[in-house]
Amino acid sequence: IIDYNPDFHTYNFERQVRVDLKRAMDEHHLYVVYQPKVNPVTETVAGLEALVRWNHPEYGFISPGQFIPILENTNQIEHLTDWIIEQVCQQMECWNKDGLKFHQVSINIPGSYVTSPNLTNHLNECLHRYKVPASQMELEITETSVIHDIQNAIVAVRSFRAKGLNVALDDFGTGLSSLSYIKEIPITTIKIDKSFVDDVPHSQRDAAILKAILNLCDSLNLHVVIEGVETKEQVDYLITTPIIPIIQGYYYSKPLKASELQEWSKQAQILLV
Ligand code: C2E
Ligand code: CA
Ligand code: CA
Repeated sequence: IIDYNPDFHTYNFERQVRVDLKRAMDEHHLYVVYQPKVNPVTETVAGLEALVRWNHPEYGFISPGQFIPILENTNQIEHLTDWIIEQVCQQMECWNKDGLKFHQVSINIPGSYVTSPNLTNHLNECLHRYKVPASQMELEITETSVIHDIQNAIVAVRSFRAKGLNVALDDFGTGLSSLSYIKEIPITTIKIDKSFVDDVPHSQRDAAILKAILNLCDSLNLHVVIEGVETKEQVDYLITTPIIPIIQGYYYSKPLKASELQEWSKQAQILLV
């Protein structure tokens, strides 16, 4: 529906998004959903990715792919990211109290914010306030943002790691970059972009490329997550590869509200922790 709204891509829409952001946070039009990452062999949840949602009173659901870029030109992206970090930590405190100790919950950090001291301060504050162990949190940073400012990104990632946080390189393979930076940056996980798995196993070329990436990650001792896995056929193929990745995708689950996770786990027969 949104796509047919003639106002949608105009200046007015962008302005409205910026104006409405604060109210959306206060009035719960914005909220966080969680998509399980599943170990396909043990059929257990290896972690969750936090993803933001906006149910706008006037525009209906606006996808993060639409409003995040609008906020990225201003420091509002920092406020939003801080808000998401706090929401997630609050939720993790509840889960931990309930005995649902997820191995890891990951949060997307926009490129421009990765190297900011504000981010570090806010993370420290939230982890402390909600008594969340740093090892339970993962930051997802995109390959494009890293390449943009490689030296500072290396410094930032080192300091996250020194605190015990995990760091994943998101959208791997989409950045048209050389691979050389991979050995310099102390990330813990690589998230392979959906486009690398879309035509697998049918395309032999794509399957060969995917295997090469899995091998590379394995020899660098990195965890691997594959995003956007939608079919049983893809899963059946992936569990025959020598290096079996963690799988995130609609095949197992769409992003869910925190309150929906237990029911999903029962239905899907995937253990939560
Ligand atoms: P991303 O970080 O690569 O997130 C994965 C996106 O793929 C999510 O879309 C997820 O719902 C979608 N996805 C997962 N499995 C499948 C699948 O099997 N098939 C298909 N077609 N899609 C799948 P979403 O939530 O719409 O987010 C889109 C992008 O917006 C994210 O890409 C991320 O770049 C950004 N984003 C979302 N939430 C946040 C957030 O909290 N903070 C920031 N900074 N960016 C966010
Ligand atoms: Ca992500
Ligand atoms: Ca991604």
